[in-house]
Amino acid sequence: MRGITFPALLRVRFALASLKVRGARMPIPIRSCIACRKRTDWHELLRVVLIEDQVTPDPDRKQSGRGAWLHRNCFDQAKERRSFQRAFRTDKPLRTASLESFIKGN
Ligand SMILES: [Zn+2]
Repeated sequence: MRGITFPALLRVRFALASLKVRGARMPIPIRSCIACRKRTDWHELLRVVLIEDQVTPDPDRKQSGRGAWLHRNCFDQAKERRSFQRAFRTDKPLRTASLESFIKGN
């Protein structure tokens, strides 16, 4: 079907995304999941940041501050194993409710 024009911005984003998928010359950053420790392409992981005592999802990876990365499926494991405390280098209890509802609501 001709005549359907995507907004230019979407087309640019699509082009960038396919570049990344093909690997092009750009090295894909590798991160490890704080729960299972598996190292993987960061597109498979969710970035979280610590805001006060709240572990907060950062799906756009734009928040500043120390970030940690995990698979969405690894959330329960991370919580059980206190991986968030380890990742953020603290002994204080951290609140993960908003992250949990973010992950489980998706
Ligand atoms: Zn994992």
